[in-house]
Amino acid sequence: MHTHTASPKPNLHLILASPRGFCAGVDRAIQIVERAISKYGAPVYVRHEIVHNHHVVKDLENKGAVFVDSLNECPQDRPVIFSAHGVPKSVPQTARNRNMFYLDATCPLVSKVHIEARRHFEQGREIILIGHKNHPEVIGTMGQLPENAIFLIETKQQVESYLPQKSDNIAVITQTTLSVDDTADIIKALKARFPNLHLPHKEDICYATTNRQAAVKVIAQNCDILLIIGSETSSNSLRLVEVGQKAGARQAMLIAGEEDLPWDLIKPDMRIGLSAGASAPELLVENVITALQDRFTLNQQDIKTAREDITFRLPRQLEDTP
Ligand code: SF4
Repeated sequence: MHTHTASPKPNLHLILASPRGFCAGVDRAIQIVERAISKYGAPVYVRHEIVHNHHVVKDLENKGAVFVDSLNECPQDRPVIFSAHGVPKSVPQTARNRNMFYLDATCPLVSKVHIEARRHFEQGREIILIGHKNHPEVIGTMGQLPENAIFLIETKQQVESYLPQKSDNIAVITQTTLSVDDTADIIKALKARFPNLHLPHKEDICYATTNRQAAVKVIAQNCDILLIIGSETSSNSLRLVEVGQKAGARQAMLIAGEEDLPWDLIKPDMRIGLSAGASAPELLVENVITALQDRFTLNQQDIKTAREDITFRLPRQLEDTP
C-alpha cells in the first residue's frame, strides 16, 4: 500500500525580543476608553488616535469609541478622552469652558515631562525640546507653555544653528519615544556648546522605549530580517526599526501585522527577529508567529533583556469600574 506523507516544512529561526509590545501607558489609555464605554455607554469620543495603532483603534471603534481630530467634532453631552500622547493646555481648558466631561489618558510619563517644562519656564530658563516636529506628543508638550517658550530640536545638525538668548540658562527636555542613542548624541553636542545645560534628572525617554530598543539591539546582529510590528504613525515602533538597522540587522522593516509579512524575502533557514512597538497588541505578534508556522518549522528563541512590572493608576472617575 502506498502512504502519502506531506513533505516536511522547511526550517526557520525565529528570535523573539522581549520586552516588546504594550507599555503601561498604552495599557492604561486603552483601559480608560473601554471602562468609559462601560460606565457611560457608547458613544465615547476620543480626541486623536488613543494610541498609534490601527488595530487598537478599530477594536475600540467596534466597542463604541468615536475618534475625532478636534473637540469641535464632539457633542457637548458625551464624554471625551484625550490620547496617551498628551494635549496642549488649551484643550482641557476649552473642554472646561464648554462644560464637557473629559478624561485624560495622557501617559503619566508624558505628564512628567509637561511638569518639567513648566518648572523650567517658571525658573526663567530657555527650554529646548528634543523631539519630532508635528508628533502629537511634541504638540502637547509645546502647548504647555506660551508660544515660542520652547525651541524644538530634531537633529544633531540643528544644534549648531541654534541661537539661544540665555546661553547659560538652558534646560533640555525630550519626547518619550526617541532613539536613546540619537538623543544621547544630540545632548552631547548641546553640552559641548552649553556646558551649564540643565538636563532631566532621569531621562525623559521612557522605560518602555528604552527597554524595547535595548532588546532589539541585542537580537539585531543575529537577524537576516528584523520585523517590527507597529503602525507607521508610531514613533517608538519606527525607532525600533532604525535601532535594529544600526545594530546590524541585515534588513529591518515595520509591518502592521501578519498581512504585511514579506514572503518573497523569507527563505528557509533564515533568522527572523521579531519585536513590537509599545502600542502593538501581543495578538498581532501571535498572528505573525502562527502565519510563519503555517509555512515553516520554527526554531524559536526568546531573548529577554529586562523585566517590566510598571502599572499606572486609572483616573479616579474610573477606579470603580469593573
Ligand atoms: Fe508612556 Fe512610554 Fe508607553 Fe509612551 S511609550 S505611553 S511614554 S510608557
